[in-house]
Amino acid sequence: MLFFQKRTEGALPPSPISDLDQLAARIEAEALPFHAREAARRELERLTKTDPSVAEYGVGLAYLDFLLGLPWNVATPDRLDLPGAEAVLDARHHGLGQVKDRVLEYLASRSLRNATGFHVLVVDDEEIARANLEHVLRKEGYQVRGASNGLEALEEVRRWEFDLIITDLKMDKMDGLELLAEARVLSPATRVMLVTGFATVDTAVAAMRQGAVYYLAKPVNLDELRATVAGLVREKTAPTAFRSPVLCFSGPPGTGKTSVGQAIAEALGRKFHRISLAGLRDEAELRGHRRTYVGALPGRVLQSLSRLGVRNPVFMLDEIDKIGKDFRGDPAAVFLEMLDPEQNGQFVDNYLEVPFDLSQVLFIATANDVGELSGPLLDRLEVVPFQGYSAGEKVRIAEDHLLPRQLREHGLTHPYPVVTPEAVRLMVDGYTREAGVRNLDRELGRICRKLAKLRLEGGTAAPAGPVTVDAALVPALLGPARFVREAAGSTARVGVATGLVYAGYGGEIIFVEAIRMKGAGALTMTGSLGEVLCESAKTALSFVRSKAGTLGIDPQAFLTDDLHLHIPAGSIPKEGSSAGLTVALALASLYMGRALRPDVAMTGEITLTGNVLPVGGIREKLLAAARAGAKRVILPEGNRPDVLGLDGGDCPDLETVFVRTVLEALPLALA
Ligand code: ADP
Repeated sequence: MLFFQKRTEGALPPSPISDLDQLAARIEAEALPFHAREAARRELERLTKTDPSVAEYGVGLAYLDFLLGLPWNVATPDRLDLPGAEAVLDARHHGLGQVKDRVLEYLASRSLRNATGFHVLVVDDEEIARANLEHVLRKEGYQVRGASNGLEALEEVRRWEFDLIITDLKMDKMDGLELLAEARVLSPATRVMLVTGFATVDTAVAAMRQGAVYYLAKPVNLDELRATVAGLVREKTAPTAFRSPVLCFSGPPGTGKTSVGQAIAEALGRKFHRISLAGLRDEAELRGHRRTYVGALPGRVLQSLSRLGVRNPVFMLDEIDKIGKDFRGDPAAVFLEMLDPEQNGQFVDNYLEVPFDLSQVLFIATANDVGELSGPLLDRLEVVPFQGYSAGEKVRIAEDHLLPRQLREHGLTHPYPVVTPEAVRLMVDGYTREAGVRNLDRELGRICRKLAKLRLEGGTAAPAGPVTVDAALVPALLGPARFVREAAGSTARVGVATGLVYAGYGGEIIFVEAIRMKGAGALTMTGSLGEVLCESAKTALSFVRSKAGTLGIDPQAFLTDDLHLHIPAGSIPKEGSSAGLTVALALASLYMGRALRPDVAMTGEITLTGNVLPVGGIREKLLAAARAGAKRVILPEGNRPDVLGLDGGDCPDLETVFVRTVLEALPLALA
């Protein structure tokens, strides 16, 4: 710790007395809040009575050093310049249109709140008293309007939003208390201050009951007035009063959440810090250990602030949904205390023991799956979804952002090697399987390392011109492709349907294969199917059986034949119910003896009566269908809005058709 380093730097260790003197001077010199200074003085007092050779002495010194080193009053000045913020976000990120909009709206409401000034309405039927008050407040820089009675005041309140109403208590037509009651209803957030020459306990109590914040006796003490109003202004402009929820970026890894957070910090001129919460197991890691424990440390939040040296960084709480299952204590409760503007002005770290104000910190949480978060926590978060990228977007991101950075980092600048779009596309398809671009970034890094090695090994014999990495060179540098994507088949087959599933990293196509053989009506299902999928397969089978007449199927077939259902592609999770429609069509095709078109893919949950229900992950599934070369995708009618919200550029050649029932879907898929 800093303190001990200082002690060992000198030639001779200074005596403990001078340590304590130095600390005493620091305690008085630092701009500490009252309670912190008191705590520091108490600790120092204890130290003066402690023998320097016992362990507690060192513990106490470390505590004081930490307390004094915290950025109680140090903050970077905020610059809230929206065009600047937009420029930073755009320069750093390709696409992400909706995310950027949401972030800019968030910043806009912040800056508006701080920019509109403080509006005061002064109500008094005595002309001179009112004019005087108005004058004093205007001189302080506030926006001031006046009203000569309660009714006029209410007119004003209907037309403008005031932060504060200062009203006389005794007035004709409508007195101050009545005005207070009416104003409460019209504008609940407006504070009211009562001023009266008849200051009595009764009226004061009545006023307090109605929620007047302040009560000033006439003649008004101007210093008291200025101080009280200034307090209210601080409350309004401090982010504490900024009740907007904390941003929570949700989406798969590598989709740019951290990097957008960094861009926000840069745009605001704030420092950025990220702590990963994945696998966090103990509340004390966040909130510190009590000093009674041996080796107690402050929590990560305060440690980070101490290291950053400012009280207003952008603080990213990464993977808030990945807190260890065996967490000791209630993570949601700690987060509420940290994130909730009502509570975080008084955040108490167990080690520090005195409250530290976290209200200036701009928290951004990230989560891969917000479904994992508890209700009360989710209420406080404004979730901004980040979606997976299409292969085309990944190539653009790689070319415009990832590759230039990797080349610079590997010193491959003179001249820049050329990596062709086809090579990048091959890396996207054959070497990564993810919704974001993190592994792609890593593979680009690998390519760069190989190129750097080649350049050095080549020495002067290296070609003078730029090296070109094309698709043919990629396997030579990275080894054979790791992933083989399923492509839509080319021949129509009986009993084989093409389905679309959503895995955490994106969409995939799967084939549902059904065959029948002589037997006694037994059903076998293979392909590591989850329980839900097995159930929807049974539902599909019952439905097809029940419609045997309509579909022209001999009902005996279900009794005299065994059925085997198989879904290959072992690495793809097959858990959900969204393959119900695919199974139903595969079975209908099998028993009808009619082939299905190989270029038609489908997704949808089904009911026992053959209705098709909407499912999730539509965008990812459509991207997967397009990638695999499908021409038509059959979707549940209920998913129409999802498709309307999509950018047509993602999968231009895909025909989407919507169905309500399995029977509607069948003719669309039959060859
Ligand atoms: P996350 O926090 O979502 O896991 P990161 O922000 O760490 O993802 O992103 C991983 C890498 O991909 C970073 O280098 C980031 O700059 C880059 N990246 C992600 N999305 C984009 C994008 N839309 N444009 C440019 N670069 C991006």
